Amino acid sequence: MAGARILRAEDLIPGGLATPDRLREIRQVAEQFAVAVTDDLAELIDAEDNRDPIAAQFLPSRAELKKAAEELDDPIGDDRCSPVPGIVHRYPDRVLLKPLLLCPVYCRFCFRREVVGNKSGVLGRAALNIALDYIRRHSQIWEVIVTGGDPFLLAPRRIGEIVRALDQVAHLGVIRFHTRVPVADPRRVTSALVEALAAEKAVYVVVHANHPRELTSKAREAALKLSRAGIPLLSQTVLLRGINDDAAVLEALFRGLVAMRVKPYYLHHADLARGTSHFRTGIASGQRLVGSLRGRVSGLCQPTYVLDIPGGYGKVSIAPCAITSQSLADGWIIEDRAGVRHPYPADPSETEG
Ligand SMILES: *Cc1c(COP(=O)(O)O)cnc(C)c1O
Ligand code: SF4
Repeated sequence: MAGARILRAEDLIPGGLATPDRLREIRQVAEQFAVAVTDDLAELIDAEDNRDPIAAQFLPSRAELKKAAEELDDPIGDDRCSPVPGIVHRYPDRVLLKPLLLCPVYCRFCFRREVVGNKSGVLGRAALNIALDYIRRHSQIWEVIVTGGDPFLLAPRRIGEIVRALDQVAHLGVIRFHTRVPVADPRRVTSALVEALAAEKAVYVVVHANHPRELTSKAREAALKLSRAGIPLLSQTVLLRGINDDAAVLEALFRGLVAMRVKPYYLHHADLARGTSHFRTGIASGQRLVGSLRGRVSGLCQPTYVLDIPGGYGKVSIAPCAITSQSLADGWIIEDRAGVRHPYPADPSETEG
């Protein structure tokens, strides 16, 4: 259990929403899961709208106290692939490095909600060195994904130390950061942070954003500081019922991101984290949404719709497939956006024998 860390329930929600019952509800949830919202995101909440997509992402709700039968404590199986603290090594060529488990905001649907918010998840100097040594000793590792928690919550000096250590590992090609800071706490994107990210190796930053209203002018400025420094920006979005499971909302989100030089990378099907069933959509409706985006927006605005297979089996694309039937001898049947089917010939190299 993560335990409650932050603030009084009164500080968390806009005045208009603070009924005694609502405050009790928030306190109950905060006994089980980490709770925090930044001023930047709290300001976006429309207190009049009881289905506000920002409030729904960050303000606790009683629904979180219900554990669905299919839900898991370690929904994507991180624990079983962790050779040393702070490292998750599931794919041969890349590892996660988690220097801390704290975030500027706590998303109510978080896939790591059983562990985030825990101060003891901060890797001390000795533990960080052991994690870095693990990376140095495994030459098949080509990419390090610095995640958490949110690595941009660390002081720029600490981030710079991690970047420099990784930059010196000859077999690494890419250092990738996963963060919600540019959206959740954009003023943390300072020139000191941008300088800390400077490296010989390619440094990528992947921003977590779920709703077009998160793309404020401050968030855009933060992204611009990073892209001006030559850092390629990508995004990840979690598909969330009642928040962004709507073609117009996703269209606005992905257009907004691309227009701020952020390439949508993944649209995640929501994981089976405890107390999050009210956020999950079905896979069929996710596929319908993703299919409808294909015709609506530029290819630049199309993330890959992925599922992290419960149990630690990794991420796979679950996007709808245009190939409706296949036969190596007779060729393929491909469906266009309007649902019209077209034949495509078999290649002789695949039909022989
Ligand atoms: C998601 C994830 C990665 C990164 O996967 P990509 O498909 O390269 O973005 C790496 N390791 C683990 C354990 C992951 O969960
Ligand atoms: S920012 Fe990421 S790790 Fe932190 S609470 Fe949200 S989903 Fe979880």
